Amino acid sequence: MKDMQRMLNDIEMEIHLTRHLIGKNSFDDRVMAAMKRVPRHEFLPGDLRYCAYDNGPAPIGSGQTISQPYIVALMSDLLNTRPSDIILEIGTGSGYQAAILSQLVQQIYSIEIIEDLATEARKRLNKLGYNNIEVRNDDGYSGWLEHAPYDGVIVTAAAPHIPQPLIDQLRAGARLVIPVGLPYSHQELMVVEKKTNGEAETRQVLGVAFVPLTGGHTPERTHKR
Ligand code: SAH
Repeated sequence: MKDMQRMLNDIEMEIHLTRHLIGKNSFDDRVMAAMKRVPRHEFLPGDLRYCAYDNGPAPIGSGQTISQPYIVALMSDLLNTRPSDIILEIGTGSGYQAAILSQLVQQIYSIEIIEDLATEARKRLNKLGYNNIEVRNDDGYSGWLEHAPYDGVIVTAAAPHIPQPLIDQLRAGARLVIPVGLPYSHQELMVVEKKTNGEAETRQVLGVAFVPLTGGHTPERTHKR
């Protein structure tokens, strides 16, 4: 498909432009293959499908957004996944990031705080045949203890600080990829690596703009109902 190829080219171009920040010139081939395989238009509201293959974020209802394709690819790449991995995602949204990861790992557990979005994402992922993703409607701040430890955790909403439960639920040697910063101000995409001695090593990757992590554990209650 022509539009899909344009999206992949735009991602490659942005990787090149940000190479000094992200410290690489290309992403894992498996990540790019997943980006090519997942039909992004299926994750957007009908009237926005025409821009599904633009390299930009888009509204998905309930005041939330599907992330920009380059950011989805970058975060997937930073997770350093292996096919046998069990991954936890906080912020299911449309389910697109989960669908990309479903191509790379064995199982994804994904938590979404807005009930309508969780229900829609669950339906959409089932319809499209992604059967290694489980969606739960809850506040993801405290993680999902039942399936821990995880081989990777990805947070797709900006948190004012790194939630300790998410580090606790990481396997030693695994990574947490998370945007950290205040709503609508400066946010940094961070990679937290849990060392074998349990300590967390944190690295900043680049400046990003995400919708805020809401719920009772973060002081900024910007979530409107
Ligand atoms: N990964 C999504 C992007 C979603 S935007 C996609 O591919 O479409 C971030 C999502 O995080 C929103 O849907 C928002 O409702 C959700 N969110 C915000 N705070 C949350 C929390 N505390 N727990 C779980 N989900 C949360």
